[in-house]
Amino acid sequence: TTPIYGVPGTAKERTFIAVKPDGVQRGLVAEIIARFERRGYKLVGLKLLVPSVGLAKEHYADLSSKPFFKSLVEYMTNGKAPVVGMVWEGPSVIKQGRVMLGATDPKAAGPGTIRGDLCLSIGRNICHGSDSAESAMKEISLWFGGRGEIVDWTSNNEEWVVSDN
Ligand code: UDP
Ligand code: MG
Repeated sequence: TTPIYGVPGTAKERTFIAVKPDGVQRGLVAEIIARFERRGYKLVGLKLLVPSVGLAKEHYADLSSKPFFKSLVEYMTNGKAPVVGMVWEGPSVIKQGRVMLGATDPKAAGPGTIRGDLCLSIGRNICHGSDSAESAMKEISLWFGGRGEIVDWTSNNEEWVVSDN
């Protein structure tokens, strides 16, 4: 069986994608899910939660010295809206997930990207995606409680989506 954090570099690569509270509040959950589904990626984990302060701080641990850290954690955890946490699987999903989100600052994000199409401000950029295989492993393990929350399943579309010659 596949480890919950997937196998980077294969068709079983996995990444952690989240719709942040502003994305949920603005009704963009379906739009963001749809883009990953239509691309051909497979949803293997999905949950709705208000993250604890501890979870948010651990998730953003590498930004803890930044001036915006406190407000970032507050915005993620204040409960004005939940977060949708997801694990998506497929070829190059870590890198392509980031491409699909667009630049961190939506003002620099290209058209056709989620941020470039749907938001305007770095502090309200509606989504998250793991930035490397190491981050994906850390974040999937952090947000999901193990085997029971991640589902290994075979999409009947797979042969129509994946074939590398
Ligand atoms: N962020 C912010 N101000 C900044 C930089 C980042 O509010 O100047 C927030 C923003 O929500 C961003 C998150 O912190 O998505 C994490 O920053 P990172 O550089 O990891 O960007 P991401 O990986 O989300 O593109
Ligand atoms: Mg990041």
